[in-house]
Amino acid sequence: MAGRRVVLQPRVRRFTCEDVSCGRRTFVEQVAGLTRRYSQRTERMRSVLSEIGLALAGRAGARLADVFGVRGSRNTVLRLVDALPEPQPQVPRVVGVDEYAARKGRVYGTVLVDVETRRPLDLLPDREAGTAAAWLAEHPGIEVVCRDRAPFFAEGARIGAPTAVQVADRFHLWRNLGEAAERCVSRHRSCLRATTAASEPEKAPALAPAENGAPWPTGHRFADRKPHLRERWAEGCTNAWTLWEEIRTHGYTGGYGAVRAYLQPFRTYPTAPAARPPSPRTVTGWILTHPDTLPESERLKLKAVLVDCPELDALTGHVCAFGKMLTQLQGDQLPEWIKAVRADDLPSLHTFVNGLERDLAAVTAGLALPWSSGVVEGHVNRIKTIKRQMYGRAGFDLLRKRVLLA
Ligand SMILES: [Zn+2]
Repeated sequence: MAGRRVVLQPRVRRFTCEDVSCGRRTFVEQVAGLTRRYSQRTERMRSVLSEIGLALAGRAGARLADVFGVRGSRNTVLRLVDALPEPQPQVPRVVGVDEYAARKGRVYGTVLVDVETRRPLDLLPDREAGTAAAWLAEHPGIEVVCRDRAPFFAEGARIGAPTAVQVADRFHLWRNLGEAAERCVSRHRSCLRATTAASEPEKAPALAPAENGAPWPTGHRFADRKPHLRERWAEGCTNAWTLWEEIRTHGYTGGYGAVRAYLQPFRTYPTAPAARPPSPRTVTGWILTHPDTLPESERLKLKAVLVDCPELDALTGHVCAFGKMLTQLQGDQLPEWIKAVRADDLPSLHTFVNGLERDLAAVTAGLALPWSSGVVEGHVNRIKTIKRQMYGRAGFDLLRKRVLLA
């Protein structure tokens, strides 16, 4: 206490058994909430160590505990976490299910989340349909299963919770659509052109800010001459002397040096860095952004792209319509949307649509019901973080406990 060692000496009673046939002769009184048989730690110490273990796992946990003067090896910390009671989640009504990467993206497991309370329900060590089905079967009463469109979750839900409505998750639908859209845009890469002219010298760095003087002003200030110089430079006249003589005949009275100095940066960067066309990813980003939230400048750039390419124009229309269905829960319009997509020459989007049709009931439900496993995504990321904090040997059981209890 305050850096000093304090020894507490509580007095407890010792009981003796009067039954001579009893193997145990004496019993030591336990102080409720303070001690436990055979334990070298107080109850409070145990819970402190196991909480630290949940938060940080073995090695880091032991190190932090040591800072607080709590003795406990890495193994003690892990053992105390192990001894924690099994998590007992309430029976959920709406379950979100998704996969998580258990080791460097090579081994996958399944995470189940209560979509209504946003709490994790369980972690399964694999992503087999059978494992998910068994878990669902052990939890009767589930009415809705939100999942992505991976076949093992669809099958798992069909077998394990046959009466539950399956909902294809909107988050994944939108992500799949985004991927299909990007493939479409990539196919039309050659349609993406730079929207700004490439060789205007005012694009060269370190030039004076744009002037707004008329092309042939009559003033004698040098600044008034700059627009003319830039214009002539763009036309190909790069000789400073010639240009100086030109502006002199129009009333400029200054020296040649100013003209030469002004044109110098133009020579270092003879043409402006060519404006590059936007990348397919950038254009896809514009297409996937709600038109109302896309900044004006980007909206104009997108417009310039779409003017040049009817297919991308059509794609943008379809993405927008899908976004509307998805946000306004208009799943009933899906068949019409699919028909409209098929009418356009957009092979990548056709592939997406074929996938939707294979899972039509769940997709329609995903576009019509308010449930979404978007909350699961947060847990998938959290698992990744917890996993990263854990050192090599800590296994699945500890990971599961930490995810569910921490
Ligand atoms: Zn095109």
